[in-house]
Amino acid sequence: GSKLYGCPVNKDELGRSTWNLLHTMSVYYPEKPTEEDKNRAKTFMNLLGQTYPCDFCAKDLRKDLKEEPPKVESRQEFAVWMCQLHNKVNKKTGKAEFDCKNVMERWRDGWKDGSCDY
Ligand code: FAD
Repeated sequence: GSKLYGCPVNKDELGRSTWNLLHTMSVYYPEKPTEEDKNRAKTFMNLLGQTYPCDFCAKDLRKDLKEEPPKVESRQEFAVWMCQLHNKVNKKTGKAEFDCKNVMERWRDGWKDGSCDY
């Protein structure tokens, strides 16, 4: 029946999927970005603020982007900026803060204990 095709996503599923994309994008961002790379990354985030399909989330995102515009001069900088953006949302929703020094391990290299190897 309908299960074959799945169901609409709720706010939390949408959030998890979006963070998967955003963090992965940030940790694969160029180490030495061109001006075009930098403009694309900034434009992407600003358009997300105008299109994210959770109205109150998008409203807060636009405010966050205004207060702390995307830092796009290097991969490290963009990855940490994205982590801090996520932490602002974590704070608002009462979730634990993530230690941004672990962002490459979590989203690019896998944990040092090998728990992501298969
Ligand atoms: P998520 O917050 O989805 O995180 C997924 C995984 O990312 C975690 O398990 C952890 O391993 C890792 N992680 C956690 N924090 C960080 C970090 N700082 N840096 C790197 N990795 C991290 N929900 C609301 O209720 N209200 C809102 O206003 C709201 N605004 C949102 C705005 C945006 C732009 C996005 C993308 C999502 C927003 N959400 C909002 C959804 C919310 O952030 C969560 O995605 C959702 O609540 C599901 O939470 P979760 O516990 O599964 O983990």
